[in-house]
This record gives sequence, C-alpha cells and structure tokens, in this order.
Amino acid sequence: MGPPGAGKGTQGEILERRYDVPRFSTGDILRTARREGTEMGRRAQQYMDAGELVPDEVILGIMGEALAGEAARNGFILDGFPRTVAQAEGLARMLDELGINLDAVINISVEDDEIVRRLSGRRVCSKCGVVVGPDAKPDATCGECGGALIQRRDDDAATVRRRLEVYREQTEPVLAWYRASGPSVVDVDGLGSVEGITKRVQDGIAA
Ligand code: AMP
Repeated sequence: MGPPGAGKGTQGEILERRYDVPRFSTGDILRTARREGTEMGRRAQQYMDAGELVPDEVILGIMGEALAGEAARNGFILDGFPRTVAQAEGLARMLDELGINLDAVINISVEDDEIVRRLSGRRVCSKCGVVVGPDAKPDATCGECGGALIQRRDDDAATVRRRLEVYREQTEPVLAWYRASGPSVVDVDGLGSVEGITKRVQDGIAA
C-alpha cells in the first residue's frame, strides 16, 4: 500500500521475482483491459482518467478471479489493492473461503511534493506498459520493445492532486483498519534508492 507514486509497482515487481510468486496489480489489470478494449476496460476508463476509484464490485470481481486461479496457490503479492475498507472486507472474506492468511501489509510512505515530482516526470510505454522515470528523457523510446513513451493520462498535475485526495479519503482508512485488526503493517520510508527500499521491505517482512 501507499499513495500513487510511492513505488508500489517497482517494489512489487522486485518482490515478485525474489519470492517467485505472482503480483496482482489492479491498476495493471485495468490498463491492460483498456488497451484490449474489453467491456471492463471501457467501464473503468472514466474513473481512471478522473483520478477516481473504479467501483468496488468491479475490483472485487477482478481479484476474486485472480485469487481463485492456479497461479495464486503458492502465495502472491497484491499491488494497489485493497484501496477502500469495503475492498479490504471483501478480500478478508475471499481469503477466509480459500483458507489463506495475509502475512503482512507493506505501507510505503512518501511526501506529497515528492509524489508530484515523481509522477510528473514518469513515462510509460504506449505498447508494453513498462514504466520509465521519474527522470525520463524527452525523446527516449522503450528499452524493452522500442515503443513510444507517453505520460499516463492520470499523471497530469490536476489528476495527481485528485488521486492524492482520494488516497487520503478512501485508502488511508484501510491502513487504520489493518492496524486495528489483522496482519502486521510494515511501515517503510519510500525515499531513497530502489535497492535501499527493497531492503527495508524485506527486513520489515522478516521482523
Ligand atoms: P494504479 O496504477 O494502482 O495507480 O491505479 C490506477 C487507477 O486504476 C487508479 O487511480 C484507479 O482509478 C484504478 N484502480 C486501481 N486499483 C484500484 C482499486 N483497488 N480500487 C479502485 N480503483 C483502482
């Protein structure tokens, strides 16, 4: 967990390789659905572009499918989910039915000014979705597939401000919910090198 631009995706990808478990990112799943033009992608579009949350029932549907799949049998990392208390409650019910315990909730924190700086410089590949930044060069192309680099529609300054508000209003209460009950919350300072932050996350999980 953490505000937009805290490094959830970056750290999630590293942990996914290190622990050899899949990462389920609701944001990535929704962006893929949009690129492919599915019904769900079309439904999510207006919310994502406005910096608002996609309705809980859509998100719980996505995660219900992911968690029930074979890939989730030996553990998983959830990235960008749950983002509301209703989603956390829905997740708790699904995990209960599957007989799975959450080991830890990792909370990466970063100040608002740094988030705005990071997201305004972030670029993503229009073809494969890989993230480049926060200091992407203006005419660079994707190192993975050569595709054009573009700014995510929801990374413009006004939408970033709205996403931060939504985070404070709807997602921070989820942390309070986990602190009051459930798995241990590992608080990690999200400033510093990517490797340094990974080490903090791993130390926190091991503690
Ligand atoms: P992200 O890539 O995690 O920053 O997500 C991008 C956008 O996708 C968010 O601003 C929301 O519009 C939507 N989204 C991703 N995950 C969720 C979630 N768990 N609940 C509601 N909306 C979500």
